[in-house]
Amino acid sequence: MADVAPVAQRSTTPPTDDRDYVIRVEDLQVRFHTQIGEVRALNGVSFGIPRGKVLGVVGESGCGKSITGLSIMQLVPHPGRIVAGEVWFREKKDDQPKNLLSYDRHSNEMHQIRGKNISMIFQEPMTSLNPCYTVGNQIMEAILLHQTPRAEEARAHTIEILRKVGMPNPERIFGSYPHQLSGGMRQRAMIAMALSCTPVLLIADEPTTALDVTTEAQILDLMRDLQAEIGMSIMFVTHNLGVVAQTCDDVVVMYLGRVVERASVDEIFYEPKHPYTVALLRSIPHLGSRRKEHLEVIQGTIPDPYATVSGCPFHPRCPSAVAGLCDRLAPVETAIEGSPRHTVRCHLYPGSTVETVAN
Ligand code: SF4
Repeated sequence: MADVAPVAQRSTTPPTDDRDYVIRVEDLQVRFHTQIGEVRALNGVSFGIPRGKVLGVVGESGCGKSITGLSIMQLVPHPGRIVAGEVWFREKKDDQPKNLLSYDRHSNEMHQIRGKNISMIFQEPMTSLNPCYTVGNQIMEAILLHQTPRAEEARAHTIEILRKVGMPNPERIFGSYPHQLSGGMRQRAMIAMALSCTPVLLIADEPTTALDVTTEAQILDLMRDLQAEIGMSIMFVTHNLGVVAQTCDDVVVMYLGRVVERASVDEIFYEPKHPYTVALLRSIPHLGSRRKEHLEVIQGTIPDPYATVSGCPFHPRCPSAVAGLCDRLAPVETAIEGSPRHTVRCHLYPGSTVETVAN
């Protein structure tokens, strides 16, 4: 396995495409070297997020969704390493794209991009907000760093953004500590912090998982309204397909560190192609189900992260697996005929030639 390309050797030539992508991830590979072996967390992940659109990234726990978001920000935790790939970012439509992975993770360029151009909301705000500082001070920090050095101006902007995310009495919330707020209010505070510098891209990593359904609906409405107002793009990491249906324009389905299908939200829900996507959709309850009807489950479990699966990584669980083919050869991504932006990684579709690399 080739190790990480030194930062200076990474590509500075962007891929050509006529679409206005805010971010394009190309062949991203992340490894975790531990004492008991190597975990291949991402195995060549590629996708793009068009400007002003919402991309849903779905899959079971452990499929690499969160690591993809962290890789874009160059925040993969130790002992993880990005060993290959490119992340092309374009702040404005006419800008020349920059490969974020050509910068050192501690460089000024990355500090400028994090928080100002690309923000992230995490699943559990209590672990992201510092309990020792007031909510207002934590939001103000990014504004002072990226927007204005004047404290009074930053304070006024912070109160304004707290009001925008629906906080009642934002002046009082400004001086509150995270433990004094409810779960929904803390998540609003996280959204306020993420949006304080009007980012071009927001990475939302399961932002509503820890909330009750009523608060979840309010937060999703809030994010949709703010997205329309600011015009930012969102990468929405979730395992909840209901949230995807309500929120996203495009969808990427991940399994075992790979993108197995990508398409528009309508194509994913009405014409899913990959057996894993089909199984995910069958495993959620839907209106019109008969009483006592059992939900289908995806057979088996995700393989041990240290294990190496030959052939298609889904073959041990796939009801359509072809013996002698799927267990030996890994399919490559292929476009669905008549729908070039709908791609799938499965031997059942014409054009899916094989890869020689192990998963
Ligand atoms: Fe199933 Fe084979 Fe397609 Fe993999 S390549 S999803 S095992 S049919």
